[in-house]
Amino acid sequence: MKCDKCKKNEAKIKLDNTENLCLDCYNKVVSELIGIKDIEDYSKDIYIYDNNGKLRQFSIYHMFFGDKISWLAKEVNGSYEFSIIEDAYSDQTKAINKLCFKTIKGVTNKTLRESNEDYYIDNALHRGNKQYSLNDYGVIQISDDEDGRACFIIDGMEISHEELATLLTQFTGFNLEYKIKDITEDIDVFKDKYKYLTDEEKTNYWNKFERILNRFVDNDFISYKLIKFFDEEFWEYTELLKELIQYGNIEFAIDLGQKIKAKLLSIDTDDDYFPEYEIDVIDDILKL
Ligand SMILES: [Zn+2]
Repeated sequence: MKCDKCKKNEAKIKLDNTENLCLDCYNKVVSELIGIKDIEDYSKDIYIYDNNGKLRQFSIYHMFFGDKISWLAKEVNGSYEFSIIEDAYSDQTKAINKLCFKTIKGVTNKTLRESNEDYYIDNALHRGNKQYSLNDYGVIQISDDEDGRACFIIDGMEISHEELATLLTQFTGFNLEYKIKDITEDIDVFKDKYKYLTDEEKTNYWNKFERILNRFVDNDFISYKLIKFFDEEFWEYTELLKELIQYGNIEFAIDLGQKIKAKLLSIDTDDDYFPEYEIDVIDDILKL
């Protein structure tokens, strides 16, 4: 059915039981009712790499609800969906940023982990030639499939109730503590994800830095010609420090930061700004 107003877009909303409107026309009507200019000028598509390197496309929509606006990021050709709700009278660029941030966090914090095992795991989730297990904390969205049957969305994948039950059997004998949240609420289950790191994990984070450094350093010397390329990888690496602070391990972030600074200071160079510039970046993240 076409929209009664623009006669162009598909009608999705029935207003006052009389008019059938598309989302654009509905927003125009409601925003005029409450005396606000509708927001049209924003990027309708965003692309985000998840932490498996897969590029995911999201369509951004907004919808007025009385004096609130709900913002939605819906994955194109996928099942991810994120949403926030904002006061209609406040600055909507902040709302869009908040939604993008939530979407990025959502696709990079995984609830399932891909198993590297060569053998077939009975109670894993099987998709293509990959198998996944449940992490011991995460987010499961309750949804329904195209036939209206209950299903679940985990990491953007649609999962049947049988599959979820099978996945949960890896924890037979444990309790599952749960909390139902509106889709627009913040997800805070990941906030302690770095809190308890094993020594092996800590060593891996340090080794990762050394591997980056070793690509550019020769006999404890780094040429000014290579600094630009080192910095690119170094910036990416410093995201880890930010995440450590954000997700509950400031102590290790500071340890790691100090170790990196000491290492950088031990390297010779013919560059005017190395490593003072890089050290400032670390200090700034660690607020030292
Ligand atoms: Zn319309």
